[in-house]
Amino acid sequence: MLGKKPSEFPGGQDYVAYEAKIQEVFETGRDIEFELNIKSRTGKELCNHIRLTAEHDSSGSIVTVMGVGRDISELNIQRQKINEMAFYDSLTGLPNRRLLIDRLQHTLASSTRSILHNALIFIDLDNFKTLNDTLGHDIGDLLLKQTAQRLTACMRQEDTVARMGGDEFVIILENLSNHIQEAEFQVETINKKILTILNQPYQLANHNRHITPSIGIVIFSGNQFSIDELMKRADIALYQAKKAGRNTIRFFDLDMQTAIENRSSLEESIKHALSRQQFELYYQPQVNSTGRIVGAEVLLRWQHPVHGMILPDDFIPIAEETGLIIPIGLQVMKSVCRQLKIWGNGPLKDNLHLSVNISACQFQQEDFVKKIINVFESVDINPARITLEITESMVLGNISETIKKMQALKKKGIKFAMDDFGTGHSSLSSLKKLPLDQIKIDQSFIHDIPENNDAAVIVQTIIAMGNNLGMEVIAEGVETTAQKDFLIQHQCVNFQGYLFGNPMPVNEFERVFKEQGFKW
Ligand code: C2E
Ligand code: CA
Ligand code: CA
Repeated sequence: MLGKKPSEFPGGQDYVAYEAKIQEVFETGRDIEFELNIKSRTGKELCNHIRLTAEHDSSGSIVTVMGVGRDISELNIQRQKINEMAFYDSLTGLPNRRLLIDRLQHTLASSTRSILHNALIFIDLDNFKTLNDTLGHDIGDLLLKQTAQRLTACMRQEDTVARMGGDEFVIILENLSNHIQEAEFQVETINKKILTILNQPYQLANHNRHITPSIGIVIFSGNQFSIDELMKRADIALYQAKKAGRNTIRFFDLDMQTAIENRSSLEESIKHALSRQQFELYYQPQVNSTGRIVGAEVLLRWQHPVHGMILPDDFIPIAEETGLIIPIGLQVMKSVCRQLKIWGNGPLKDNLHLSVNISACQFQQEDFVKKIINVFESVDINPARITLEITESMVLGNISETIKKMQALKKKGIKFAMDDFGTGHSSLSSLKKLPLDQIKIDQSFIHDIPENNDAAVIVQTIIAMGNNLGMEVIAEGVETTAQKDFLIQHQCVNFQGYLFGNPMPVNEFERVFKEQGFKW
């Protein structure tokens, strides 16, 4: 091209831009670099990097402009790859988290100028981890690819379908109706479609599997919320969808957020209560047919400095969900053992038994047995004075594992009671296998006897069953003499309930025990 004007360059291409750049160098005397797409002599598309340099004569005026062109087509392909790697998910080819946030930023920016609604949708595959763990990661990858394809296929061109990582997909729907109800309806229709499409069976190599999604949605318009806030809201909605039993859709609403915030502040308070020793043990007498107090069930109370006494039903479920029940349970066990140790030297030593409630997640801890035995040994009390109350939900899990743990503890002398008996879903045959010492008839049945015939029959049956299996039977929630008399009449001779005493602090329990412990 030496000595030629750009217009005389081969290929008959448009070099107007080129001409203008040369002109610029002549005028400014500065070097210029730019990229230009041209066709090679063979007609191949090339990307040229061009550098124009001015050459001066001795007086300093520009005589020529020299251009050096370099073919950077190869480099450009590399650049594109890097771009793809930075903004696209390599497995599914979908935009990744970075690009998603980019697009969301864009949506928010253009949203300020428009009154239309948009939606951010979080999709999470239910039980993906199980599939990945059981069938292997290759199959897991196949599932993710197919999910990506299904999602893209049912979306409009302008919608963004992205993969956040793991089994989490995110969709941005733009330009929905300006009426919120109508926008909600549009989003719901689309999401029902997503739900249906993802519910179709997947053919994964030679496995045929059915996988369901949970979907959380937040609708927005304008830019009243930050990206973080929108993502948080969609995530909360997704969490609600999971909680509602999965394979379902949930829209974000403010009540959800309030509930979650209350929950997390409650979680903080429980942690605080644990370190400040705000938990106290109450003792509810357990008596036999002679009216003698033979033991007590230990019930947790939270003495809150501001809210006063909080009952277990208001914090145990959250303690269980968050795993805080593990340290709480350990603290309860330590206190119980210390109390037994104190009584060991006083008038209460007479075989007084304490029953302690154990949550399923506590029992399922791998080192549960070891932890419990450690407490007994460090405080040095006789484990035979303790009964652990478990529930039927524990049996529903791994029954042979349950039996193993129970037996290990029974070897040390600990006893076991089945709490709330009759309300669970465990089968009689699995119950029979458990090395139980006691069953506690649930208070809901006791409440209805003797008038209600169904309750009366159930209570009689449980008593007969317990007696036949050689287990002690105790009735809880006994409030009236009519209930007590019915129970005695049907050979249940152990009781617990308001009729004999409410749960009470330890010093009151000691007083009651001394005063009426030996009379009916
Ligand atoms: P639960 O094990 O079924 O305990 C019996 C509940 O019935 C206690 O409620 C007790 O106060 C109440 N109750 C006792 N007698 C009567 C009566 O005559 N009539 C009526 N209507 N109710 C009676 P509380 O103390 O509120 O405890 C509720 C639940 O919290 C317990 O149910 C137990 O599942 C759980 N819980 C309590 N303490 C602990 C603990 O230390 N650890 C664990 N994991 N759970 C605990
Ligand atoms: Ca109990
Ligand atoms: Ca109970």
